[in-house]
Amino acid sequence: MSNVELTQRWQGAMMDNYGTPRVPLTHGEGATVWDADGKEYLDFVSGIAVNSLGHAHPAVVRAVSDQIATLGHVSNLFVAEPPVALAERLLQLFGRAGRVYFSNSGAEAVEAAFKIGRRTGRTHMVATTGGFHGRTMGSLALTGQPAKQEPFLPLPGDVTHVPYGDVEALRAAVTTDTALVILEPIQGENGVIVPPAGYLAAAREITRATGTLLVLDEVQTGIGRTGHWFEHQAQGVEPDVVTLAKGLGGGLPIGATLAFGPAADLLTPGQHGSTFGGNPVSCAAAVAVLDTIEADGILDRVKRAGERLRDGIESLDHALIGHVRGAGLLLGIVLTESLAPQVQQAAQDAGLLVNATGPDVVRLAPPLVVGDDEVDTLLRGLPGVLTAVLNAAHAAHEG
Ligand code: PMP
Repeated sequence: MSNVELTQRWQGAMMDNYGTPRVPLTHGEGATVWDADGKEYLDFVSGIAVNSLGHAHPAVVRAVSDQIATLGHVSNLFVAEPPVALAERLLQLFGRAGRVYFSNSGAEAVEAAFKIGRRTGRTHMVATTGGFHGRTMGSLALTGQPAKQEPFLPLPGDVTHVPYGDVEALRAAVTTDTALVILEPIQGENGVIVPPAGYLAAAREITRATGTLLVLDEVQTGIGRTGHWFEHQAQGVEPDVVTLAKGLGGGLPIGATLAFGPAADLLTPGQHGSTFGGNPVSCAAAVAVLDTIEADGILDRVKRAGERLRDGIESLDHALIGHVRGAGLLLGIVLTESLAPQVQQAAQDAGLLVNATGPDVVRLAPPLVVGDDEVDTLLRGLPGVLTAVLNAAHAAHEG
């Protein structure tokens, strides 16, 4: 099976939600993946910040194979140990009393938060322009990206979107009728946008004063991605609800909604649920991810590798690089020209997988276990890629 054959089969059978597919991948190990033609790539996308321990990590492989061989699924009609162990482990990482609801994706984790918000008896919600919270109808109502919303209007809910990072806009929008405020600690899909210092703390103060739930969407920033278990912990803020997914399952589908204090008891039996949520295999994989992050000191490694990557990119001093933003191993290279899709393609041709988020931002989100040598390989390859893209763009412009 070649790249061309697999792509043709994709085009014949798959609903085209994503436009022209990128290269078909067949297998991976650590931060390396291979395509159907046998070409090797360094993976700085990680399934969009999902493969936290890289591809085929032995701890995840073992946890999944042991669990599927023991008890693959029970539904929510029965209890299994892995979801309980995972919930206990997550609550322990937060160090607060709370409750956990498991689902299968980030959007579903947000959907549950939306319903928790509704159970306050208030209907108004506040989210941020450019924010991304998923594409199911409730989560899409909170996603602040009109192009993704417009094909599906009307969306449920009474949602006000305010500019991200603007404390006064938030203060003006949130009232004692507001059920929840939902924020990403760093906007991921919108191009790795870091809010001004103190933004989350201000959101906490505003929501506390109005009796509004503060929901922090850590689907992309959570589980060590920024060098902390959860990015809001680095900022010293205690939310009422947290949503997780992506890196939690180390490649298996899982979403989690954690609720603390009174928010933990707003959903009552019969109001919400999911057949697959809390699936023992996904939960066993997630426990293995958390155990490995802890046992191998991966948070410190993320901080160090993130600094190496960021410093390295900044010191390339390239004409196409404006600046670098983000935290840990969630970084955005802001280009000086709108050439991010071209950089993504040229990098792929050079064996480097990166991700264009918008016209001028290249997102880097390698596995949390990425090695210094792999960071250096990317840093060595990047200048040639950027120069080729810049030269081609200028040649096209002149020609
Ligand atoms: N919230 C955030 C912050 C995300 O980045 C994403 C996915 N990019 C989602 C929610 C939705 O997650 P999923 O694609 O698993 O539904």
